[in-house]
Amino acid sequence: MTVPTLPSLSKIELRQLAEAQQNKKDELSKGIPSYSKLNTKRMLHELQVHKIELEMQNDEIRLARIAERKSSQRYTSLFEFAPIGYFIIAPSGIISELNLRAASLLGAEGSDLAGKYFSTFISPEHRELFKQFLAKTFEVEGIQTCEVMLQVGLRTIWLSVEASVDEHCNDCLAAMIDITHRKTVEEKLKLASSVFTHAREGIFITDAIGTIIDINDTFTSVTGYSREEAVGKNPLIFQSGEESLEFYGEMWEELLDKGFWSGEVLNRRKNSEIYSEMLSLSSVKNASGKISNYVALFTDITLMKEQQSQLEHIAHYDLLTSLPNRVLLSDRISQVMLQSKRYGNSFAVAFLDLDGFKGVNDAYGHDMGDELLIALSIRMKVALREGDSLARIGGDEFVAILADLANVEDCEPVLERLLLAASESVTVNDVIFNISASIGVTFYPQDSADAEQLIRHADQAMYVAKASGKNRYRLFDIAENDAVKIERESLEAIRYALDNQQFVLYYQPKVNMRKGKVTGLEALIRWQHPDRGVLSPMDFLPTIENHAMAIELGEWVINTALGQISQWQATGVNLSLTTSVNIAAVQLQKPEFSTRLASILASHPNVDPNCLELEVLETSALDDVHHVSKIMDDCLALGINFALDDFGTGYSSLTYLRRLPVNVIKIDQSFVQDMLYDGDDLAIVQGVIALAKSFNRKVIAEGVETIQHATALLHLGCDLAQGFGIAKPMPAGEVSAWISNFKPDDKWVI
Ligand code: C2E
Ligand code: CA
Ligand code: CA
Repeated sequence: MTVPTLPSLSKIELRQLAEAQQNKKDELSKGIPSYSKLNTKRMLHELQVHKIELEMQNDEIRLARIAERKSSQRYTSLFEFAPIGYFIIAPSGIISELNLRAASLLGAEGSDLAGKYFSTFISPEHRELFKQFLAKTFEVEGIQTCEVMLQVGLRTIWLSVEASVDEHCNDCLAAMIDITHRKTVEEKLKLASSVFTHAREGIFITDAIGTIIDINDTFTSVTGYSREEAVGKNPLIFQSGEESLEFYGEMWEELLDKGFWSGEVLNRRKNSEIYSEMLSLSSVKNASGKISNYVALFTDITLMKEQQSQLEHIAHYDLLTSLPNRVLLSDRISQVMLQSKRYGNSFAVAFLDLDGFKGVNDAYGHDMGDELLIALSIRMKVALREGDSLARIGGDEFVAILADLANVEDCEPVLERLLLAASESVTVNDVIFNISASIGVTFYPQDSADAEQLIRHADQAMYVAKASGKNRYRLFDIAENDAVKIERESLEAIRYALDNQQFVLYYQPKVNMRKGKVTGLEALIRWQHPDRGVLSPMDFLPTIENHAMAIELGEWVINTALGQISQWQATGVNLSLTTSVNIAAVQLQKPEFSTRLASILASHPNVDPNCLELEVLETSALDDVHHVSKIMDDCLALGINFALDDFGTGYSSLTYLRRLPVNVIKIDQSFVQDMLYDGDDLAIVQGVIALAKSFNRKVIAEGVETIQHATALLHLGCDLAQGFGIAKPMPAGEVSAWISNFKPDDKWVI
């Protein structure tokens, strides 16, 4: 960029013009002829001519002046309003003059800037550069150029400055233009080019028809092709032949459709080695929207793939036998499950455990054991059909999937072959081993469990095979398992209920009908189930019948009843009543029953043990009369009384009855309820009443539902009764009110 030459007449030219006019004036003044030598007429004429000439010359001067003024004005406005920033700067770096554009580039008013150092606007890192530039401009002839960065407020502006010194070498005339945009573009390009060159991805760019036009360094290091070898070629040279035509077809289709494709590709290096790359392809369009180039970025992932497949192998296969492991087995089971659903056939999961393998390890060491496992696994695999699979899931545990069975019997020959494969002798290091296998089998979809459960079920069946003599297979029993499952689930629920105070005791009054008095209460357990409402003991007690929880729950009942008695006594209710609790057979038969009871009683010191009665089932008491009667004696010593519950159902022998230390006999409600119309039951009720009398025991009838029952019992000599006809079991909170309101039925008293 040069400083523009000044318009038409320069100062110098104007000066020359003025000088010429002066010379002419001098000439004229010098050349005027004397009056003495010339005649007047001629002289006048000449004077006239001179005058005209002078006038003409004056006009020229005036015109020239006007022209000069106009030109100066034009120059000023050209200078002031030029789109280029002009400024005049002294060697010291001080700005003496500048146009509007220059001022705006420097971010200030022109008038503020004159007299300021230009360098104050330049970014600190470029100040030295500008100083040198200015010095050079004054030293060297011609135009100098430099590019500097300005800091104007928060903005960074790049300027290109061109300068040359004026003819007197006093000042420097400079022009500057804003090149910020160009600089930004340049920076971007520089960055892009550096990214391209140094990228860790291999990059190649092709033209619109796919001819390679540029590559980067990584391209060469991955593919082995140099720039010279690659440029001008089609990327087809990398094709490995491992990918199908459809693969490339789809790739192109997507690239043309979406402008982008990425995926894994197997390519070939220059040395013909095949490698995996992660490739991204993009198309680049020109301003008119047509594809002008394709850009490909790729990473060599061969090593990663190898590591990945190694890891996958470790994750899915057993290292010793190279058979699938448990993870892959579950996967495969899920797959055959899908097939089974689709085609409606069955498959079997066979759990195989070697018999006596531990002995081999112990006697011959693990290395021999490992050899034996390898040999057996090969043999067992051979015993399977095509499409079946064998996995090793633990030390000497294998699982076979026997796929595609039309019926359960289909797998029998395979199971026999498996047993044979395991039981035929194997020679390892000259030692002959004779072991066998036990196999448990379950079938899908007959056993409609998930993969893990199928394995577990086959495992359970395998245990049955072991228990029934080894070297055989057993089928899993679904029905039995369901029962076990339901029981286990309810056990868990009862455990939870116990831990979360979901159990409560209801109390059912017992009365003396003849005296019209309440004599006692029977505590009956209820489960306040959050979803199912109040559950009766028959809904949950059978589940825990033979479980340790029965004892825990039994102790909870005793403890709760004692707590309740003590609460009632504190408020003056039920002072003379006996409260009974039911004791399960398992609980009663525990040798430590009496000591446990003693300690529970001790934790309720204000309750008289006489107020507590234990109802034991006739059946449970007679299981082992000798043992139970001893326990009952120990309890009697604590002051506790016993009632023999459900009497009549256990066909107890009289001798035994006599030996049991019970105060009360409870006639089972089934006889009571039916006695009105069933002669046999009536006879039993009569018999029990008579028996009780002769053994000097009290007798109480359960299940007294109607007044007819009550009166019939009174006639038979049974005064004590309990039943819905008197009161249903009720929550503890309702008991004292019920007792206060109790009125014996008129018909009771005979
Ligand atoms: P159970 O000891 O023979 O108790 C009497 C059962 O008969 C109670 O049933 C009671 O509600 C019911 N019942 C009372 N009067 C009548 C009546 O007039 N008609 C009819 N149809 N039934 C009547 P619940 O409460 O369902 O108890 C059933 C059994 O569960 C009890 O029979 C007892 O053997 C056992 N049980 C209840 N609570 C406990 C407990 O806390 N521990 C133990 N181990 N067993 C308990
Ligand atoms: Ca009872
Ligand atoms: Ca009963």
